[in-house]
Amino acid sequence: LFTPTSLLVTGGAGFIGSNFIKHFMAGNKGCRVVNLDLLTYAGNLKNLAAVEGNPDYRFVKGDICDACLVAGLLAEEKVDAVVHFAAESHVDRSIIGPDIFVRTNVLGTQTLLEASRLHAEGVPGFRFLQVSTDEVYGSLGAQGYFTEETPLAPNSPYSASKAGADLLVRAYSETFGLATLNTRCSNNYGPYHFPEKLIPLMIHNILKKKPLPVYGDGLNVRDWLHVKDHSAAIERVLKQGKPGEIFNVGGNNEWKNIDIVNLVCDLMDQRLGRPAGESRGLITFVKDRKGHDRRYAIDASKLKRELSWEPSYTFECGIAETIDWYLANQGWVEEVVSGAYREYYEKQYGQQ
Ligand code: NAD
Repeated sequence: LFTPTSLLVTGGAGFIGSNFIKHFMAGNKGCRVVNLDLLTYAGNLKNLAAVEGNPDYRFVKGDICDACLVAGLLAEEKVDAVVHFAAESHVDRSIIGPDIFVRTNVLGTQTLLEASRLHAEGVPGFRFLQVSTDEVYGSLGAQGYFTEETPLAPNSPYSASKAGADLLVRAYSETFGLATLNTRCSNNYGPYHFPEKLIPLMIHNILKKKPLPVYGDGLNVRDWLHVKDHSAAIERVLKQGKPGEIFNVGGNNEWKNIDIVNLVCDLMDQRLGRPAGESRGLITFVKDRKGHDRRYAIDASKLKRELSWEPSYTFECGIAETIDWYLANQGWVEEVVSGAYREYYEKQYGQQ
């Protein structure tokens, strides 16, 4: 079992990274956690209020593409493990502007790998964990699952940039012997999800009685996993995974987009005391996303078999809890939607 003493987390102010930091710090007292995040539109320090002030925690505003900064942090903090979340993560944005996706996701990962390789020479046991996505495998028909052996066939600039990063991780393992791990997870849901993504967007629009945009025929299938189960899987792979290995992470929980939207509508109607079916009336089918992958479904049996990981949330429970979280945290949502959350860090850390 590998027990890190000083962890560098990149992208820890985002949706999954912030959930991971809170999860990890709760169970690993005494381990240093340094969060390197550029605070792009997707990074929000309010996600981390629970750990602010903890002496084991440090936030550094900075870019993973900044080689000097990264090398300095690894040395100064005597880092013995990197968990790499930082990325441009939104497929729609990658269709509008792919450049930043290549810069952050490919070049940023290479910068971290190179600094890690040099740093690791003096740190026995050093590990680098790349957090990736099932989208690198491309799209499935009605049958079958992605396994770790499925060839990479990304279809969007986002998934192509993540696949490029995954291949660099492989190269640093094969060529330089860097102890790398690579997780590939299905769609996450849960608290602190940026309101441009499907589930929080629907919750927000239902509340405001705004149209609920659903791509194409709504029959695209995604496999959903609670972000806390993803965090637990990453911790398990970091500590127990054999270096050089890839682990798929998924909840065996496939949903058609339209069924998820209908479910969220019904749960929201119940909570808001609206007549049954009212919110479904807001559903509006819109022109399909370019290159829209039809189905993702992940086979996570390796993780279950080798590292005894199991998701703890049922979807019924997780989605209900998520909706309740959003309803109870409308202040957080409003700040994100209005951009007001940015003022907080601009005051503290200066303008970008
Ligand atoms: P997110 O967009 O919510 O967060 C990304 C974070 O990275 C933000 O805090 C942002 O400020 C930071 N960042 C961006 N560019 C940076 C840079 N150059 N330097 C430093 N920090 C930078 O994303 P997320 O949904 O939390 O996803 C995190 C990771 O997990 C990504 O690598 C993504 O590919 C992967 N992933 C996401 C999902 C999902 O469903 N959201 C599923 C599987 C894998």
